[in-house]
Amino acid sequence: MSKVEAGIAANYTRVVGALDQMFHEIDLRTTGSMWRSPKPGLAGVGSCAIVNSKKHAEQKLHGSALQMLIDMREARNVETPGKPDPKTGCPYHREGSGCVLHELKSPACIGYNETFREQKQRFGMTGTGLTGDIWWMLDEILDNTRPDIDTFVEDAVDAIAKTTEHVRKYPILHPGNENIQQPNVIFQRNVHIG
Ligand code: SF4
Repeated sequence: MSKVEAGIAANYTRVVGALDQMFHEIDLRTTGSMWRSPKPGLAGVGSCAIVNSKKHAEQKLHGSALQMLIDMREARNVETPGKPDPKTGCPYHREGSGCVLHELKSPACIGYNETFREQKQRFGMTGTGLTGDIWWMLDEILDNTRPDIDTFVEDAVDAIAKTTEHVRKYPILHPGNENIQQPNVIFQRNVHIG
């Protein structure tokens, strides 16, 4: 393991960890995530159902720290109790609790943003370009060619944290059962504002 690769992995996990927290707070305050759908094949798994393999779950990970990040993901999977959910080919999804990776998610997974209309309605976020912004930001980190990478990472973490704090001002829509699907509110994207 080289110092450079370790630095890239540290930057990557820091920013993805902040994004994971942000999306978690958003998820508590929105209703349209596909994993809340009662449809067979989607219930509890949502968009992760389209991922068909470990390789597929690694989409957009690249660069000299690639193998290190893959090894960290595998270690997380081995150390996390439970079995993979049979509703997806992704080995990192646990039935009843979702993805085990958090700060180790691939750019494709962490950038996936399916409640952007609700984010605009509820929080005033202009999120349609968010996926592209996330992929660009993580490419910069994985490529590690910027001379200002340390500042770049600090600014990214600050900006994400500000958005997370903004979202936290809004009420949680699923108190007490945040991780349980809510079939009665599926797809009602205009309710519960503020
Ligand atoms: S790695 Fe995580 S977010 Fe990505 S498909 Fe698998 S369970 Fe879903």
